[in-house]
Parts: sequence; structure tokens; C-alpha cells
Amino acid sequence: MSSDSTAATVIGKVFLVGAGPGDPGLITVRGAECLAQADLVLYDGLVNPLLLRLTRGICERTARARQTDVAIVAQADINARLIHEAKAGRTVVRLKGGDPYIFGRGSEEAAALREAGILFEVIPGVTAATGAGEYAGFSFTHREISSSVAFVTGHEDPSRKETRLNYRALAAFPGTLVFYMGLGRLKEICENLQVAGMAKSVPAAVVCHVSLPSQKVVEGTLETLPALAAAQNLKPPSLIVIGECVKQRAQLSWFENLPLFGVSIGVTRPEEQAEDVAQRIVRKGGEPVMMPMIEVGPVNQHHQTEIARVVRQLGRFHWLVFTSVNGVAEFFRHLRDAKLDTRCLGNAKIAAIGPSTAERLQDFGISADVVPPEYRAESLAKAMEKQVRGKTVLWVRASRGRDVLPRMLTDVGALFAQLVVYENRDVETLSPDVECRLKSGTLDWIGLSSPSIARHFAKLLKTSGITPNDLKTRIATISPVTSAAARESGLTVAQEATVYTWDGILQAIERARS
Ligand code: SAH
Repeated sequence: MSSDSTAATVIGKVFLVGAGPGDPGLITVRGAECLAQADLVLYDGLVNPLLLRLTRGICERTARARQTDVAIVAQADINARLIHEAKAGRTVVRLKGGDPYIFGRGSEEAAALREAGILFEVIPGVTAATGAGEYAGFSFTHREISSSVAFVTGHEDPSRKETRLNYRALAAFPGTLVFYMGLGRLKEICENLQVAGMAKSVPAAVVCHVSLPSQKVVEGTLETLPALAAAQNLKPPSLIVIGECVKQRAQLSWFENLPLFGVSIGVTRPEEQAEDVAQRIVRKGGEPVMMPMIEVGPVNQHHQTEIARVVRQLGRFHWLVFTSVNGVAEFFRHLRDAKLDTRCLGNAKIAAIGPSTAERLQDFGISADVVPPEYRAESLAKAMEKQVRGKTVLWVRASRGRDVLPRMLTDVGALFAQLVVYENRDVETLSPDVECRLKSGTLDWIGLSSPSIARHFAKLLKTSGITPNDLKTRIATISPVTSAAARESGLTVAQEATVYTWDGILQAIERARS
């Protein structure tokens, strides 16, 4: 290495990470670790943006326009950027769809890094083909059907007259063929294989959007597939799978049978509480669309002063009550700002409204003494009421919230105080993406989880010029009270949860499908 060892120590490192084919759960554990450490993530157009929730770094897309396949950011510029950022001391993740080295140009990036003297690691990913095998239901190799599999590019330089692919060899290949980047040339590929001697009856399929809620499979034979696919208006990215294994789908497919497969659902919860709901939707085969109605911000000067005062007297409280994940995070941030840590809590007992809040407390080394059976203020107050008579209780809260806790706990003799650690306010507009999906009818459902969220959603529709009657998106609410608020605001409620949680909303949507 260079003789200048001090310079070498501040240089960052680049991790070339495979993101998998689409389902965010298909990234490797190592890939997720790299994302958690990244200062900067440069991700390509095939990467599912839900994966970006695994990082706190800055995220930038280096997209290729899908239709024309023209690079918006040239490969040389990406290489130069990776080198530049690493030299500036940053930990960079270059996140690439599928596997970095399978038709991914990852090796070119690695070679450029080596040449520039930048350290790198490469983390494999589930390539689109193997993703398609499992998620569509065909086993590329099988003791009785196929002893080999070939990954082939269907994309060739359009300016070249002759094909470089050796169709004779491909037609004679003793196993499954999987073509990447071939949708635009489907007809040509199927015809060339037949001309080269492959039987027209060989099973063949196109698989689009592997492992995503929009996954679509068209099955046929070498002879019939081009026409069948053309009739479906298929969208890339997609693969062409050719071989006997295509027939196994009848037995092996499972993904498309998940209860919410293909269903897009707007999640109106505040962003920091939406993670588990998004996860559940993905695991049921659906697409979560984040559209928080409330956003979180820093507190005003008045609350700042109050926080600075109260954090110095925390030892005098018998109880501290946390009612949101965000409240926990903000509380400890304020403690840190005041150069304090958990020791200043003394022997205070800790209550958390639900499992996520309790889990966040664990991050700060605190096990909650009380977590009520139901994730509601009433349930929390009930769980605490026998223990708080004559005791000082501090509720760590957001600027807005219900008054259930102070009311119920004061009634049973607690000395109740409150500390606002973050501001929550209504968002002012729908995001352009959500607005577009509502107007074009490409969002299937919206879950409304409180009366105020229902009212605010109705207001945002109005701001966007959408009349509730024109709305093709169906509405599922969390409870009769929320349904009533939605109807009063002019919305039509299609489903109502019988269990008053977000899981209940998802179950209601599932019921509507069956
Ligand atoms: N490195 C990637 C491939 C990049 S080349 C990998 O290992 O998967 C881009 C091609 O990959 C697309 O044209 C398509 O053929 C295929 N592809 C990527 N993601 C896909 C997906 N979710 N569904 C179907 N094909 C996909």
C-alpha cells in the first residue's frame, strides 16, 4: 500500500451489496448490516425502496430509465463517485438489484475501486432468476427433469446485426434456460431457439416483477408464449424461463396465494409507527404505501425550556410513562443533549403503552415494569392504577394526544405531570406519488386508524381536488368510531375491523377479498 499510512486510515470503504430481486426480506443479514453502517447508499433502479429503511445514511438513486435502458447516471460517473466518497472517509454502500455480479456490472465497479486503491467488500444477493424459481414455483434443476441451468442475457447491442448468442448451443443445452433482459426480444428468442432445433412444445414462461406484489407469470410453450405475453401488456423487469420446470408451477407456487397478494394498502400511521404494519403487509404478499397523516418535528422554545428544567429533576418521579416509540427516542436525545444518562432516572418505575415502545426502551437498557395487555391508554391506566396513589407520575408525550391518562390516573390519586418531548402536526398535503395513485385508481385500499386521521384524510383529498365519490380506492377503518368520523367527512367505508388494531384492518381487507 502507499507509504502515506495516515492518509490510508481515514479512507472509507465501499460495500457492493446485492439487494435481492424485490421482496425486501431477501437481502442477506450481512447486506443489512452494511446498510445499517452506511453514511451513503447509492442504489440502482431495481432496488426496492423499502430496503432504505435499513439505513440512516443518505440515499441516492442511480437509475436507468427502464423503457430505453439508457443510463441516467453513466457507469463511469458512478465509479468516480464511489471513489470520491470513499476518499472523503465515508462508508458507502453500492446497493444493486439481485446479485452484484450477475448482469450487474458490479465487477466493473470493484475493479475501478481496486485501481483507485479503495478497499471494498462484495456481498452476494438473491439473483432475479433464483428468486423467480422459488416465488413463481419452478425448480431449475431437478433429479428427473433438468441437470443444469444457464443464465443468459437477452439484451444485446441493438446496433449489431448478427446475434452473438450461440442459439445452437442454447437449443442443445441439457437443462433450464433463464434469459435476463429479454422481454423486448421474446419473439426473436423463442423463434431462434426453434430454428436451432428446440421443440416448439418446450414449456416456457415470462415472470415479471419477481417476489413483488405485482409479480405476474405467463406460461406457454416456445411456440405460444410470444403471443400470450403480448396480449398481457407485461412490464419489465422480467425473465424468460425455458424448460420442463415451468410445468412444476401447478404444484410449487405459493407466493401468489398469500392472503394480500397484489393488494396495495395506504398506511396512514405516523412514519415511525408504520414499520411493523408495512412488514406485515409485505409478508402477506401486499404492497404497503406510506402516507402518514401526522408528521413529527422538534418542540418549540417553550417546551425546550421546560425539558431543560425537568430533565434535571427526574429523580423525584416515582413513575415515567412512555406512550410512543418516538417519545422514547426523543426523551433520550434530550437527556443526551443535557449530558445526562439513565442514572438520572433513579429508581423510577417505567410504563410503556405497547410492545414496540417497550422494545425501544430496551435499546436504552431499560426493561419496562408495566406493559398493558392492550395497546391503548385506557388499558395502560388500568394496569397502573393500583400502584400510583400518592405517587409522582411523569408522562413523556407528544404535543398532541388524548387526555385519558391524566384523567384516569389523577382520579386514582396520582400526582400527574407531563413533558412534551416532540411535536406532532398534521401533514399539509398528500405526497405527489400518493395523489397520483389515488387519482389513477392504482391504490387498492387505505386503512384509517383513528377518527382524526379519517377527518384529516378527507381534508387532504379536498386539497388535492379529489371528490370522495370519485375515489376508486376503498377504505377500511379500525373501529365503528372511526367509521362514523369517516362517513361524517363524506367518505364511504368499505370495511371495518372487528379487532381494533392495524392487524384488524388487514384482516378486514382480507375478508373483503375472499
Ligand atoms: N443483478 C441483477 C440483474 C440485473 S440486469 C440480478 O442479479 O438479478 C436486469 C435484469 O434482471 C432485468 O432486465 C430482468 O431480466 C432481471 N430482473 C431483475 N429484477 C427482476 C425482477 N424482480 N423480476 C424479474 N426480472 C428481474
